[in-house]
Amino acid sequence: MRFYAVFLVLVLSFLCQSAFAFDWPHIKSRQIGPHTWVIEHGPHDEDPKVSHGFHNNPGFVVTDSGVVVVDTGSSYEIGKMILQRIAAVTNKPVTHIFTTHFHGDHWLANQALVEAFPEAKTIAHPELIKLLKGGEDKFWMDTFAKRLGKDFVGTKAVIPNTAAEAKVYRIGGINFQVMLFDKAHTASDLMVLVVEDGVLFTGDIINNVHFSFMGHGNFRGAYAATQTALSLKPRYVVVGHGMSGEPVLIERFAGFYQQLLASVGKYYEQGLQDYEMKPKVVAELAQYKTWSGFDRQIGPYISQMILELEKEAFR
Ligand SMILES: [Zn+2]
Repeated sequence: MRFYAVFLVLVLSFLCQSAFAFDWPHIKSRQIGPHTWVIEHGPHDEDPKVSHGFHNNPGFVVTDSGVVVVDTGSSYEIGKMILQRIAAVTNKPVTHIFTTHFHGDHWLANQALVEAFPEAKTIAHPELIKLLKGGEDKFWMDTFAKRLGKDFVGTKAVIPNTAAEAKVYRIGGINFQVMLFDKAHTASDLMVLVVEDGVLFTGDIINNVHFSFMGHGNFRGAYAATQTALSLKPRYVVVGHGMSGEPVLIERFAGFYQQLLASVGKYYEQGLQDYEMKPKVVAELAQYKTWSGFDRQIGPYISQMILELEKEAFR
């Protein structure tokens, strides 16, 4: 009897451990510049059972004075994984965390990093700080708690503490050029260019074979932001979702925005309703059909574009 009780305790403790402290052997960090690494999610899969909520691309830059992180992830557990990947490269402390926008999958993991390095400055668009302090933090906490279930346990909202400025930050001998956007993927976007390495972190303004929710965004503004990204002439691009790579990723995504704007614009001029133009727009954008999220997002994209066009018409 006693043996079974001990056995049961052992099994239960093992189950508890494996439930909350899973490892991420398939997630690798990859050096993409002399000072810059990206932690890539690999093949895109938003199913939380597969991804445990990790499907973005946190990056980190090792400077003379410490580590600068760009975007974390969706949960406390993901934050701990990011710390492990950084520790495999350097024992320097995390000194700064830039967050590219207010969607929860880019900042809810901040907690683990800030717990380990309480002095770290957490920097984001002023609008991001305003939105999260105004209650959006609870929205993202609830959304990801529902989506990730037990994988979200222990996560707390750590809202960035420092408003970003559009300027070059010099940190530990490296220049970080920060650009702010009020109307792009959201009203709270920033991009970071690691000047010495030529690496550009775009947030979700640009993705790779993947479509993000644009309900907080503006398509014309997002397209304009792609042009800003191109003008920086980066050597390498870390996108919000999907594998990072050559600057052609920017051109490709800009091409999508451009075709969507042209196609919806044309049928809007002809007086078509969203449901009338949808099959025509889908046919014209057929080359993007295989990108993740196309079927789910294209309807909302068209409806939103029409609203944007209506607003422009009344200006
Ligand atoms: Zn997003």
